[in-house]
Amino acid sequence: MKRLPTELSTRPKSLRDRRFSCVRVALDVPLARLFDYSLPDDMTAAVGDRVVVQFGARQRIGVVMEVGAVSELPVNRVKPLLAIRDDAPRLPADWLELMRFLSAYYQRPLGESVIGALPPRLRSVKPLPRKSVAAVEGEASAAFVPTHRLTQDQSAVFERVAASLGRFDAFLLHGVTGSGKTEIYLHLIARVLERGAQALVLAPEISLTPQLEQRFRQAFPGARLAVMHSGLQDIARTGAWLAAARGDAGIVLGTRLAVLAPMPRLALVLVDEEHDTSFKQQEGLRYSGRDAAVYRAKLAGCPAVLGTATPSLETWYNWQQKRYQRLELPERASPGARLPEVRTVDLRRETPEQGFAPSTLAAIAARLSRGEQSLIFINRRGYAPVLACEACGWTAGCTRCSARMVVHSASRRLRCHHCGAEEAIPRACPTCGNVDLRPLGRGTQRVEETLGARFAGARIVRIDRDSAQRRGELSRTLERVHRGEADILVGTQLLAKGHDFPGLTFVGVLNADAALVSTDYRAAERLFAVLEQVSGRAGRRERPGEVLVQTRYPGHPLFSALARHDFSGFAQSQLDERKAAGFPPFVFEAALRAEAPKLDAALRFLREAARLAEAPPAVRVYDPVPHVITRIAGMERAQLLMQSSSRPALQGYLSALSTALFEAAPRHLRWHLDVDPIEFD
Ligand SMILES: [Zn+2]
Ligand SMILES: [Zn+2]
Repeated sequence: MKRLPTELSTRPKSLRDRRFSCVRVALDVPLARLFDYSLPDDMTAAVGDRVVVQFGARQRIGVVMEVGAVSELPVNRVKPLLAIRDDAPRLPADWLELMRFLSAYYQRPLGESVIGALPPRLRSVKPLPRKSVAAVEGEASAAFVPTHRLTQDQSAVFERVAASLGRFDAFLLHGVTGSGKTEIYLHLIARVLERGAQALVLAPEISLTPQLEQRFRQAFPGARLAVMHSGLQDIARTGAWLAAARGDAGIVLGTRLAVLAPMPRLALVLVDEEHDTSFKQQEGLRYSGRDAAVYRAKLAGCPAVLGTATPSLETWYNWQQKRYQRLELPERASPGARLPEVRTVDLRRETPEQGFAPSTLAAIAARLSRGEQSLIFINRRGYAPVLACEACGWTAGCTRCSARMVVHSASRRLRCHHCGAEEAIPRACPTCGNVDLRPLGRGTQRVEETLGARFAGARIVRIDRDSAQRRGELSRTLERVHRGEADILVGTQLLAKGHDFPGLTFVGVLNADAALVSTDYRAAERLFAVLEQVSGRAGRRERPGEVLVQTRYPGHPLFSALARHDFSGFAQSQLDERKAAGFPPFVFEAALRAEAPKLDAALRFLREAARLAEAPPAVRVYDPVPHVITRIAGMERAQLLMQSSSRPALQGYLSALSTALFEAAPRHLRWHLDVDPIEFD
C-alpha cells in the first residue's frame, strides 16, 4: 500500500525536529550524494533493494545503500518509499562494494554509477513483465567437450591457476599468438562449473567477433551461457544480467559491461586480450573493465587471469612490481607452427606505387601463384597530426616536456597536448633546412581498388568496422575466407583479433609510421600489439608465415623487437622511456574535459576549475589545451591534464575538485573527469 507524502505531515509537530531513522537511496541524478526516504510501516527494505521513489516531479528507480541511517532532515521533508521491487535479485553486498569503489575512484556520483550499471529494463520504474525476459537456456552443470588435449606448457599454466581457485591471485597469462590461451580458459571454466560455481569472461568486441562465443558453446554444449554486450536488445541484455545475478548462468561472457553484472557464485575471472583499449569505458562512469575485473576477483576471493600476447605496459609493470604473477606460453600450440618472419620494407629506398612498395606487391603475387592467402593490414587509427620532415625524419617536439607537438592547421600553431605549450609552425626543418614540412598521421589509400587493378582476377575481401556493422555479414565473410574463397584480405584492427585463417601465409602492413611519430605516448605500445596480433594471423599451421612492414623508420627499435617477437625487450625499452619522460605507469593521470559552444568558454572554465581545489605539491596541474578536433556536434572541446606520482594525492585532489565542480560548475557547460585516461586527441 502506498502512502502519500501528505500523511506524513499529519504526524505530531513534536516529531518534526527529532532525528529519525531513514533509508539512504542512490538515484541517477547529477548530484554526488544519497537521498533520505522514510520507510512506511508496511514495508521492509534491505540494503541492495531496488525501490521506487518520488524525486521532484517524477518517480525514479533507486537502490537502497543504507538502512537505519539517522536523517539530518526535518521529518516532514522526507518522503516515503513508494514501492520495493522484487522482480530481480536484491543487489548483493560485494556488488555494492564494487560500485562504491568504482564511483569513488573514477569520480562519478554513486547514484549515477549504481543505476547506470543496471540493465536498461531494471532502470525503469515499471516492474519487469515476468514473461518477457527469457531465461538463459541450458543446465547448471554441463558436459565439457575439450577440442584438444593440453600441451605440457598449457597444462602447467592450467595447474597453476587451478591451484588458486578459492582465493585471490592475479595472473598475467602471457602467451604468443596461437599458443592456445582459449583452450586453457575452457579447461579452467570446466573446473569451475564442476563445482557449481560461476566464471566471468571479458573479451573485447565479442559482438563483432563471434568466434569466441562459438568456441564456448562448442566446448560446453549444454551449459547456461549468458552473453552480454551493448549490441544486444534491451530484453536480451536484461535476461543475461538476470541469469548472472540469479546464479543461473555458469558462464558470463561479455564486453567490459559484463564486469558490472552481479554473480553470487563467482569463482574465476578471465580477461582475454587484456591490452585492448576497448576495455575502457568512454562515457559516464569511465572505468577500466580490466582493472575493475581484478578488483572484482579480489572482492570475490577468486583468481583473475589477464591473457594476451602483448601485455599492456601497466599490466607488465604490475608483474614487475610483483602485484601480478606471470605465466608464460612461449610457443605455438599447433604442432610444427612457428611464429612468422617479420621484416621491414624501407620506403626511402623503395618508392611506393599507390601505397604499395614493390616488395609487398611481389610477396602478394607469390602467394597468388601458390594459392595461398595474403592479408593487407591498414592501421586505421586516427592520430593527431604531427609536423614531420620527410627528408631527415625530424618531428616537432615540445621544449617543455617529452611529448610531440600537434599541428592545429586552423590557427597555424603547434600545441603540446600534454603540457599546453604553444608555438608557431616553423618555416623549415630545424635539422636539415627542408621547407617542405607536412603533417603526418592521416590518410589511408584506396587499397582495395589498387589491388583489384593490379591483380585482376584475384578475389579480394574487405573487412573493417563498416562492413562488420551489418548483422551477420562479418561471419559470412569470415566463413568464405576459411573455405579458401578469398585470395587477398584487406582489413583494419578488427582483423587482428583472434581469427585463425589456415591458408594465410603473408601479411603486409601499409601505414605503420603515423603511430611511431604520434603525440600519444601509448601509440608505440599499441602499434607493437596490433602488429604482433596481425602477424599472428600468418602461418598458424605448417606453412611458414611472412610479414612485411612498410616504413620510413626501419631502424626504429620497435621493428627489431617485432622481428625477434621480443615483447619483453620492447616493453623494457618503452618503460625506460616512460620513466625518463614521467609518463604512466610511473605517474598517475587524470584529465578534466569541458565542452562549450565556444572554445574560449571551455578553456576559461578549465582554468578556473583547476583553482577550485588547491592542488597539493605532489599533484601537477597543466594548462588547458583544445582538442585537435575541437568542434563536434556544435560544441567545442578542451581538456587539462593532472599528474602525480602518488595515487592517493591525486585521488584526494580529484575528490575535492569534483565536489567543488558539482556545486560550482555552470549549467550550460558539460564537463567530466577521466581517471587513468587512455585517449588524448
Ligand atoms: Zn609539452
Ligand atoms: Zn629535416
